[in-house]
Amino acid sequence: MSEQTHNEQSPLLIFTDLDGTLLDHYSYSFEPALPVIELLNSEGIPWILNTSKTLAELSELRIALNNSHPMIVENGGGIAFPAGQPMAALASDGAKGGFHLLTLGVQRADILTKLEPLRREFSFREFSDMSAEELSELTGLTVSQAQQAMDRQFSEPLIWQDAEAKLAQFAARLGEQTLSLLRGGRFIHVIGDSDKGKAMAWLSTHWPQSNHLLTTVALGDGENDVAMLLQADFPIIVRSPAHEPPLVKHHRPVLLTNLYGPAGWAEALIGVLDEFGYTLPAGTGSTSAASPSAE
Ligand SMILES: [Mg+2]
Repeated sequence: MSEQTHNEQSPLLIFTDLDGTLLDHYSYSFEPALPVIELLNSEGIPWILNTSKTLAELSELRIALNNSHPMIVENGGGIAFPAGQPMAALASDGAKGGFHLLTLGVQRADILTKLEPLRREFSFREFSDMSAEELSELTGLTVSQAQQAMDRQFSEPLIWQDAEAKLAQFAARLGEQTLSLLRGGRFIHVIGDSDKGKAMAWLSTHWPQSNHLLTTVALGDGENDVAMLLQADFPIIVRSPAHEPPLVKHHRPVLLTNLYGPAGWAEALIGVLDEFGYTLPAGTGSTSAASPSAE
């Protein structure tokens, strides 16, 4: 009974990265996370996708994941609210495919305008210069996946074709226009003054239940998740089979999962949910087997 009181006094709000966190680094599977997703949905605990992906890239995935909440897209550049969701009225930057958009950084059209004069000083190739076929060849995405990746609202990826040493100069020139650089694997992302952490803070502050003290949980595996993890009451680093965990200097304990990807995601959330009085129905908790031998 005391646990129930705890839930009501401090409702949970969960933020999660996708690639390498909820989705397996290699196979993109989220199967080990399904029992926990079912528990979150049946208990009405909101879980927010916080990803570098575009809204278009998420349109099918969110249905497969059975997620009906607002989504933080393009590395915190903006938030997409499903029409009818209570916070959708706060999103005043247009609508797209049943979602209302809120820009937290700079709209892509403005980013492109600001990048234009920099082409005379630096050599780079933007997504907006490419066809879907070209991006498909570069990345291994199908043409239709490439189209979804190019359907952007809040950021612009580019291929740097200039000297590595000129990147700092480029970043400084962007900074003069409230733009910043985010290094990805293959591309450099130009984005406004926002990131996954700022977007998480915005949503937590404006969340309708915030007259209660929300407890936030964040799960991520990479450097671009650090700002989000730093905002969380329960920061969880999901172990990656492909790279070292990022360094997160938090005043609270930072959990590093034993298991990789979605199995680690489930393992860690089962622990947090248990502390708040939520448990998986018997027989569905096989993912909680956090034995090191399972690695
Ligand atoms: Mg990731």
